[in-house]
Amino acid sequence: MEVRLVLGDQLNTQHSWFKTTDNQVTYVLMEMRQETDYVVHHIQKVVAFFGAMRQFGQTLVQQGHRVYYLKIEDPENRQDLSRNLQYLLDALKTQSFAYQVPDEYRLDQQLKGFCSTLKIPNRCVDTEHFLTHRDELADFFAGKKQMIMEYFYRMMRKKFQVLMNGDQPEGGQWNFDKSNRNKWKGTPVIPAPYKNKTVDIEALHQTVLDAQIPTIGRFDAATFNYPLNREEALLQLRYFCEHLLLHFGDYQDAMHTDETDLFHARISFALNVKMLHPLEVINTVIAYYRKHPTKIQLTQVEGFVRQVLGWREYIRGIYWKEMPAYQQKNKLQNNNPLPDFYWTGNTRMNCLKNAIQNSLDNAYAHHIQRLMITGNFALLAQIHPDEVDRWYLGIYADAIEWVQLPNTRGMSQWADGGIVATKPYVSAASYISKMSNYCDACTYDKKKRTGDDACPFNSLYWHFLDDKKEHFSKNNRMAMMLRLVEKIPAEERFAIHTRAAQIIKNPDAY
Ligand SMILES: Cc1cc2nc3c(=O)[nH]c(=O)nc-3n(C[C@H](O)[C@H](O)[C@H](O)COP(=O)(O)OP(=O)(O)OC[C@H]3O[C@@H](n4cnc5c(N)ncnc54)[C@H](O)[C@@H]3O)c2cc1C
Ligand code: SF4
Repeated sequence: MEVRLVLGDQLNTQHSWFKTTDNQVTYVLMEMRQETDYVVHHIQKVVAFFGAMRQFGQTLVQQGHRVYYLKIEDPENRQDLSRNLQYLLDALKTQSFAYQVPDEYRLDQQLKGFCSTLKIPNRCVDTEHFLTHRDELADFFAGKKQMIMEYFYRMMRKKFQVLMNGDQPEGGQWNFDKSNRNKWKGTPVIPAPYKNKTVDIEALHQTVLDAQIPTIGRFDAATFNYPLNREEALLQLRYFCEHLLLHFGDYQDAMHTDETDLFHARISFALNVKMLHPLEVINTVIAYYRKHPTKIQLTQVEGFVRQVLGWREYIRGIYWKEMPAYQQKNKLQNNNPLPDFYWTGNTRMNCLKNAIQNSLDNAYAHHIQRLMITGNFALLAQIHPDEVDRWYLGIYADAIEWVQLPNTRGMSQWADGGIVATKPYVSAASYISKMSNYCDACTYDKKKRTGDDACPFNSLYWHFLDDKKEHFSKNNRMAMMLRLVEKIPAEERFAIHTRAAQIIKNPDAY
């Protein structure tokens, strides 16, 4: 008998393992406290993972595969990967063991360690999911000073011949980012979010509660909206193509109090657990565009392709190039604790209130909410990146360390000193007001940077630039902002620092 392990984020029914059935092979899936407890996860994330794993196990059984599925409540469950595996290998008199390469450093190390103790043949196979191998980004940028995503993205476009005319980009331009900067003001109408027809999600929710797994966030079966199998994921992708793609790029950076998803695809969970393949997603979107050339513009499609073909693979490459040192990086030496309101949404700052409530309600926030609201504030308030990481890793259903860590510690917190982002993503209220309606109904004055009613982002922003200026003195992209700091009159500068210090000391009072 060969035992083959399938981890919870390896739910790829298209994997070559499953092309033929073999009664000498047992596939193993395990729900474990090891995985539910390494950080406090959102309740919907736990339900979504268990639900998707259970449906995946059932699909394999229906296809005629032998499956050993350990549920969280099973008495023989040791709740630990190595101990469960050892028990199983012994019980099944296993002659060989195989697993798919994990995407997380933590699990990679654990499985390598486990295999080093085995006395039976064992091997690790590819997940057949990503478009680049683990070291491809490192090889591509070897000898280069900076790892600019745009160059990696162009290489990927050429390599996979995506939106290309020979070696030239379709439309004569690689990047239409500049046209993707619209504020959403009530039109065009945003279609109702796609709704999966998931059955019996309440029962699964109860199972998670009964297991007393610590969680955050809210659960409501009526609004729970994660695809739990490939069919649902494909329907969600189709919905995106038919209803949302036509404005995806235009409103990619927009935020609004009444609309949580705008024109975003919400396919990150399905992609990250490998129900969908990235090339299949890209090809589906491009095929729809080709079929509807008058309805869909290239700018929308390119904006989407850049996320999946560019950013997603780039982020993964950074993770494997920089781990394990990456998770310790704290270039700006930020050491403050995360405000309590990140766990409750209980703040008067309207932008944060909305972005956090949305995250607690749905285990989802779109990219600009993550980057320019919650991430922006955490960086400006100089929160320790460990605390920021823990929050992002727990709260989002799509959060798996390989993608969460470089996005949070790198892109959002600049804790890597500029490996991912050439300058920190920080802003005052002006950007937030330009891209959203958050400031319209806020207690604070978006124009003021001092005084009791001044927007905290403003005081913190100018304080941050002044406080951390030595880190950016050689950064051309920051030069203009640093010059502006110098021009602030001494008295006002003092008032900015005083107010920023008060906010940093007690952010929950704002
Ligand atoms: C601080 C921070 C933390 C993040 N943490 C995660 C995370 O834990 N897991 C995660 O999947 N994404 C993460 N992202 C990236 C991005 O915000 C999400 O992928 C996106 O919001 C998912 O929603 P969507 O499917 O509607 O995406 P859309 O906006 O519709 O984009 C389509 C797809 O592009 C991919 N994509 C877009 N941007 C990125 C990116 N920067 N990195 C990787 N893939 C990208 C995703 O697969 C996404 O599903 C994070 C971003 C920030 C700023
Ligand atoms: S005024 Fe400041 S705190 Fe209020 S919503 Fe705008 S940016 Fe956020």
